[in-house]
Amino acid sequence: MILTISTTHQPATDLGYLLHKNPSRMHSGEFGFGKVHVLYPEATEERCTAAMVMEVDPVGLVRGRKGQPGESGVLAQYVNDRPYSANSFMVTAIREFFGTAMNGRCKERPELAETAIPLTARLPSLRAKGGEAFVRALFEPLGYEVEARALPLDQEFPEWGDSPYVDLTLSATKRLSELLTHLYVLIPVLDMAKHYWIDEDEVEKLLKRGEGWLATHPQKESITRRYLRHRRLTNLALEQLVAPEGEEDADEQAEEAAAQEEAVERRVSLHDQRLNAVRDVILESGAKRVLDLGCGEGKLIRLLLKETQFEAVVGMDVSHVQLEKAHQRINPDRLPSRVASKLTLLHGSLVYRDARLTGFDAAAVVEVIEHLDEPRLAAFERVLFEFARPKLVVLTTPNREYNDLFEGLTGFRHRDHRFEWTRGEFEGWANGVAARFGYRAEFQPVGPVDPERGAPSQMGIFGIA
Ligand code: SAH
Repeated sequence: MILTISTTHQPATDLGYLLHKNPSRMHSGEFGFGKVHVLYPEATEERCTAAMVMEVDPVGLVRGRKGQPGESGVLAQYVNDRPYSANSFMVTAIREFFGTAMNGRCKERPELAETAIPLTARLPSLRAKGGEAFVRALFEPLGYEVEARALPLDQEFPEWGDSPYVDLTLSATKRLSELLTHLYVLIPVLDMAKHYWIDEDEVEKLLKRGEGWLATHPQKESITRRYLRHRRLTNLALEQLVAPEGEEDADEQAEEAAAQEEAVERRVSLHDQRLNAVRDVILESGAKRVLDLGCGEGKLIRLLLKETQFEAVVGMDVSHVQLEKAHQRINPDRLPSRVASKLTLLHGSLVYRDARLTGFDAAAVVEVIEHLDEPRLAAFERVLFEFARPKLVVLTTPNREYNDLFEGLTGFRHRDHRFEWTRGEFEGWANGVAARFGYRAEFQPVGPVDPERGAPSQMGIFGIA
């Protein structure tokens, strides 16, 4: 089984830097399924080719392992196509040998890693369920020139028809990281052999690797279905890939938002102060049924579940990945059942009216509004203050005036923030909302107060008037 990658970009031997594999020697590694070697059959200034050669050991593969349901007996375990065709094992090898290149990193030639160069990949024996036509449907929309030839089952007996293998050559001017990423995702999509465990992490991996091309690929659905195999995971991924306008990257944004903001604000461990402050205001109000809107990975929910005063704690977020994380972190299965039974996690967006949000005493909206496009704020205002209408709303958002005091910060605290308000702007907005919907607004600083710039975070407390 072999994959070759060639370039005519000059000097072509720079391919060795891009792949982090020196052309003058062979690189080998042992894997559970056999041995993998990377070597360069040609390495001149004009043209350079790296070959990844895999020696799959079909006997080693089944040693110590029982036959899987659906496999046709012992013989199939020993006599199979794994040694001869490019398949999902190749994906493991690509990740191990070319992982850095796939991530677009190259210390020696960083600008070249960012540059589209002429590349050709050849897989002389690729297992392709769906045949030549499907191979084309996968690669052509990505801008590859595709040469695909179905291999006959047996050259002596053409009447037996084609095998499920194709001889594939892909050519395009692309960044090497793009080519590797496309192969990484699409080889298993074509192979579809079930030999590795697919769990929810795979959804995230697919979304990460699919960034920038999968959401607009005409075969998006087949790719996702075949890659993930499970209907539930497929749906999870597809829902994110077709997220409504303006929320395309909800998961990625949310994750980075959390990480980046935490980094910026670490010195004052502001986030914990903020969550404690929000919890305390809600506790004081005597609330029993509480919403956490834009709950992220559920930090506030964990605080709320510790308080016996609360009878229902409902978290909602637009990002499935965040909700899955919240579920894992809260781990309701490990909580006493009287605590776990208070919890509900909902998938939903705060800019759509939602009947599930009615009948609550209090709602927390912590560091969420700055992620909404300003024109959508009006929808959010009605969803929360007119329709859901909790007795108390506790809402926090960064105070932009304080940003100068964060070392090294230029611009917003996170690139997904659509705005960051001064105290005046926030109070102006909040008082307007309160007046329009019949609430009273009060304000509290969160974090250390600077005499001129105020506190890093600002909290608005809205009570029904
Ligand atoms: N409240 C959490 C998370 C803040 S990050 C905390 O303080 O730790 C912002 C969160 O808002 C993310 O989880 C993001 O997915 C969510 N979010 C963004 N737009 C949303 C929308 N329209 N509806 C619901 N949640 C949204």
